[in-house]
Amino acid sequence: MKPKIFVSRPIPDQAIERLAALFEVQVHPADAALKPPQLGQACREAAGLLCVGVRVNEEVLSQAPHLKVVANCGVGYDNIDVAACTRRGIVVTNTPGVLTEATADLAFALLLAVARRVVECDRYVREGRWQRWEFGSLWGSELHRKTLGICGFGRIGQAVARRGRGFGMHIIYHSRRRAPEAIERELDGHLVDKEALLRESDFLTLHVPYSPETHHMIGARELGWMKPTAFLINTARGKVVDEEALVQVLKSRQIAGAGLDVFEHEPHLHPELLKLDNVVLLPHVGSATRETRLAMAMLAGENLIAALEGRRPPNVVNPEVYG
Ligand code: NAP
Repeated sequence: MKPKIFVSRPIPDQAIERLAALFEVQVHPADAALKPPQLGQACREAAGLLCVGVRVNEEVLSQAPHLKVVANCGVGYDNIDVAACTRRGIVVTNTPGVLTEATADLAFALLLAVARRVVECDRYVREGRWQRWEFGSLWGSELHRKTLGICGFGRIGQAVARRGRGFGMHIIYHSRRRAPEAIERELDGHLVDKEALLRESDFLTLHVPYSPETHHMIGARELGWMKPTAFLINTARGKVVDEEALVQVLKSRQIAGAGLDVFEHEPHLHPELLKLDNVVLLPHVGSATRETRLAMAMLAGENLIAALEGRRPPNVVNPEVYG
C-alpha cells in the first residue's frame, strides 16, 4: 500500500502527477486555507503534508500521529510551529531560491510604482481627470543616484540590490551578519546599523523572515527616523511592520509613501490604508508567477518525497530532527 499524503490546496498537475506515482494523494479541492481542526482531521492518516498557505500548529499535529514530514510550499515558514514538529520528530522543509527572482521583481515593481505614482496616474486617467498635459503635476521621485536600503540581506534582499544597481542606486544594508566580501564588492553594498539604514534610505525595502525577533522591527520609532521623502516597501511579512504606526506616518506625510504586498492581519487591511493615495497595495503576490509557483510546488514535492523515502531533503528547516 502506498503511503498517504495530504496537499492542502490545488497545485499544478505536474507536481500532483509526480507525487501520485509514489503516494496515495489527497488534495483539498478549494484554494482556501483549511482551519487547524479541519487540517488535522484531513491529516489523520497522512505520512506527509504538503502545505500551501495553512497554519500547522499543535492542534493539527495532535490529530496526525503518522506525520513524518511537513513540506511547506514557500520560503517563509512562520505559519508552522517548527518546535512542535521537531518535538515529534517531524521534518519541516521549505522552498528557498526558486522564488527569489519573482519576489525581487515584485519588490522592484512596488518601488517603481510608488516612486513614479504609477497606480495613482492610472486612476487619474481612468477617472477622466486627464483633461490636458501639464508640466507641473504628478511629479514623482527618481531612482537614479538614490539610496536603496535593504533590511535582511539574504537571497531576496541581494536580488533586489542587483536590480537597484541596474538603476544606478547606491546600496546600503542591515542584516544579522555581514555578507561575503564578493557580494559586497559585486553590489557595492555597505553594511550599516538599523538606525543608519532608516535615516539614510530613500527607498527602504524589507526582506527579513518573520520571527519573534523581527516582530514590529519597523515601529513608530524607526519610522520616525525615516526621511520625509522616503518610501517603505514591504514584501517580507506584514507583522514585521507596526501597521498602525505606518498608517500614522503615511497620513501625516512624515514619509512619502509605501508599497505593500503583505499586511499585519491579511487579508484584512487597516481601513485607513485604503483611503491613502500614497500607498500601493497588493494581495500578497510576491511569488505569484507561472514559473515560480510551479517550481515551488515541484520543490516542495521533492522535499516531501526525499523525507518519506528516508533520504535527507534538500531544504530542511529543522536539522535537529536528524540528531
Ligand atoms: P533569506 O535568504 O534567509 O534572507 C533573510 C535575511 O534576513 C538573512 O540574511 C537573515 O540573516 C536576515 N535576518 C534574519 N533576521 C534578522 C534580523 N532580526 N535582523 C536583520 N536581519 C535579519 O530569506 P529569503 O529567501 O531572502 O526570504 C526572505 C523572506 O521573504 C521570507 O522569510 C518570507 O517571509 C518573505 N517572502 C515573501 C514573499 C511574498 O510573497 N511577499 C515571497 C517570498 C518570500 P541570517 O543569514 O543570519 O539568517
